[in-house]
Amino acid sequence: MPTKAVTKKEKTKVTTKKKKDLRLSATMLKTWLQCPLQFQLNYIERLPQPANTSFSLGNAVHHALELANISLMKTHKQFTNEEVEEFVQEFRDYLAKTHLDSMEYFESGATMVRGELLGLDLNERVIDAEVEFDITTPEGVRIYGFIDKVSQVNETTIKITDYKTSKIAMSWDEAKVDEQLSMYDLAATVLYPQFPNRILELKYVRLGQSLTSNRTDIAQFEFRREIASIFKAIKEYRDNPPKQRPDGYYNDKCHWCAYNKKCPAYNQQLSENMANDFVPVTELTDSTAIEELQKVSLREKALKEHKDNVKLWLAQRIENDPETDVTNGTHMINPMCSSRRYYDAEKLASLLTVDQLVEIASVSSTKVTKLLNTISDPDLKREVESAAFVKVGNPQYRIKKR
Ligand code: SF4
Repeated sequence: MPTKAVTKKEKTKVTTKKKKDLRLSATMLKTWLQCPLQFQLNYIERLPQPANTSFSLGNAVHHALELANISLMKTHKQFTNEEVEEFVQEFRDYLAKTHLDSMEYFESGATMVRGELLGLDLNERVIDAEVEFDITTPEGVRIYGFIDKVSQVNETTIKITDYKTSKIAMSWDEAKVDEQLSMYDLAATVLYPQFPNRILELKYVRLGQSLTSNRTDIAQFEFRREIASIFKAIKEYRDNPPKQRPDGYYNDKCHWCAYNKKCPAYNQQLSENMANDFVPVTELTDSTAIEELQKVSLREKALKEHKDNVKLWLAQRIENDPETDVTNGTHMINPMCSSRRYYDAEKLASLLTVDQLVEIASVSSTKVTKLLNTISDPDLKREVESAAFVKVGNPQYRIKKR
């Protein structure tokens, strides 16, 4: 079975029709569906996007995994620990250029890269990495984007992987209709016609979880028709933009939005008197409890993101002028580095008894799962699995559509 492999410099680019001005990316499509103001600011006014801590972390993790996948395309071999650490270092070097303010980001990103590379399933051959696509559908819609990883599962099947660094995974129902996955499916049909079966994977590297989906021919056809209508509407909007900026639609992605500082809808949420706006707990009903949980979660995320951005601004300000204190007259910023104490596990194992070690050690289930992937002895695997037990923690209340 012929496969198509490209190096980073020789990225895939397929064009099946004459180029038109407008190219629809998954981000553009999602933005259009999500919020008219964000679309206006990004794609019509083309306002520059300020630095964002979450995007910087995601980009750095993607960068390291892209390099690792390019290497895997040549070797198809499990990485040694030393090689994994080299990719972790690539991640750190990339992240260090973005002025993040907390070591926490280095630590969490390094864990993501390490976890992903130590838990690779090499039954699937990586055949492409960071694939650029630019194709035109039969309806005349030019779609554009990048695919993080393409692996060959068997003679007829490929897996399209998109890395996610978010803390919350999509539900299976959401993945079934996710626009980005539908776009990848469409692109893969053109780029890899030798593989009639396509698995679409969202790899949540922070969570160590993978969510897979697929699209039937009918679903793909429906999606093509839907984006043809949206493409037409976007073109009309782009050619005749409104004289006034549209209102923003406050939504659960606002805390990721690059323009939230300029957005009246977002700032209204930040500045509202939250105490007065809450329903007293004694008056909650099923319906208002769901609304309250939704409202508080949205604001919590918005405030966290705003705080991170203020800290990012401060880090840049201090770097630009380290000699002058940041002060408002009564208070000043005192930059401090956080530190944590670690113990060398191998050294402790050589000094303590097994009972003492068991007393102080905690085992990461994610790391055990990854380790199990590397164990070929089925009896040992079973034994390790049998050591698992479940502790029920405090309930988490996630809101989902019925
Ligand atoms: S912050 Fe939210 S409402 Fe405002 S522009 Fe961004 S996505 Fe739209």
